[in-house]
Amino acid sequence: MISDIAAVIFGGVGFTTAKECDSKIIKTPYGNVTAYFIRINGADVAIIPRHAGAEEHTPPHMINYRANVWAVRELGTKRIISTNSVGTMKDHSIGSFVLLDDFVDFTKNRTSTFFDTETVHVDMVEPYCPEIKGCLADSLKKRGIDYCEGTYVCTEGPRFETRAEIAMMKQFGDVVGMTGVPEVILAKELELCYASICTVTNYACGLGDGKLKLTVDEVVDTLHGAQGALFGVVSDAISNLPDERVCDCGCATVGARV
Ligand SMILES: [Zn+2]
Repeated sequence: MISDIAAVIFGGVGFTTAKECDSKIIKTPYGNVTAYFIRINGADVAIIPRHAGAEEHTPPHMINYRANVWAVRELGTKRIISTNSVGTMKDHSIGSFVLLDDFVDFTKNRTSTFFDTETVHVDMVEPYCPEIKGCLADSLKKRGIDYCEGTYVCTEGPRFETRAEIAMMKQFGDVVGMTGVPEVILAKELELCYASICTVTNYACGLGDGKLKLTVDEVVDTLHGAQGALFGVVSDAISNLPDERVCDCGCATVGARV
């Protein structure tokens, strides 16, 4: 085990890792995961690029979510900061940030539990860690960066959504993406703290400024533009985390076993 990792960052598209970083293969019951190590203001932090795998870029529906989350436990930390790219279904500006406070799950074919042989109903009243979310919010405020909190709708992908789907989902969600679930659920099952900071990269289908088509290039361009700010915000937040957790994330499954 690697000791004293302050937090693990799940890196989304565009959250690149310097090639010269130390890395280590983490073995899990679900497969191997590569973690990269950096120091942020004196704290050791691991980065797990979510889309890394046997292929150059693992698409959202094929990511080994259970292996990635289990690797966090193997690394000996209890905190995950997830970075995700999203489409906005409201009026967020492109390149702005959204901290998640709830989610709706429209995924179809993903294994979203570690408990295959016993029944465990994990509590989802507060899916995202308020302690980490508070540190991310403070960091955004100190840097003078506008942000919102919002509800994330997770779709299966890899296709983008239809206009009719967005018209439905915008009634109960703020942003839409393909990778936030089941990560948040799996983290809860392992009683880990999990928070997500999303970069708004595009308008969801049919909501753009007279523009119907969404291209991968515009998503990637926006992510590259926002990456410096995102890294700074996440770094500040990690530096400001209290040594000991005072949130309730560590008792998510207590009393939930049937
Ligand atoms: Zn927590």
